Amino acid sequence: MSLQFQKRNSGQIVLPGEPLGVIEEFVPDTGTYVKDGTIYSKVVGRALIDFLNKRVSVFPLVHGARAPKVGSIVVGQVSSVQSQMATVRIFKIGKKLLSGFFTGVLHVSDVHLRFVESMFDVCKPSDVLRAKVISEKNRTYHLTTKDKSLGVVYAFCSHCGGMLQQRGRSGLQCPRCGKSEKRKTAIDYGKGII
Ligand SMILES: [Zn+2]
Repeated sequence: MSLQFQKRNSGQIVLPGEPLGVIEEFVPDTGTYVKDGTIYSKVVGRALIDFLNKRVSVFPLVHGARAPKVGSIVVGQVSSVQSQMATVRIFKIGKKLLSGFFTGVLHVSDVHLRFVESMFDVCKPSDVLRAKVISEKNRTYHLTTKDKSLGVVYAFCSHCGGMLQQRGRSGLQCPRCGKSEKRKTAIDYGKGII
């Protein structure tokens, strides 16, 4: 049984009722409860496993924390982009800002109703993106931007870091250095609404 717990890392997001360890190994601390010798998380939060002091605690992500659900509209910052997918750090669910973040994944097939060849034409690291959650697996949220209201809401020039401005229907341009870039933008791109 202890093997299962060794996979747990500090910083990992855990849900209420998730086993974190056993009392033979750890002292239960804040955000946990014990049942039949097993320590469980009491809240949605980040696990802190202190191997030195043998203490396990969970720090809530937000007060009355909630995780995204299928159908949630979320906002996040793009953290990495590969040709077929992008990773997004979700920091807002609906209108609620989170103190921590959840990880979202946007696959190239979920970007647009029409065929999109490369994720590099969709978003770049540090862009702010609005998306909808379509599924959840192992606390990774799969996202879609297949709607006019969804897509990049802020984008930054990959050359100089300036904020890109809408130019024409699908193009963006950097007012500082003049570079043109492609994104899958939301209809209210650059309007300051996230
Ligand atoms: Zn620029």
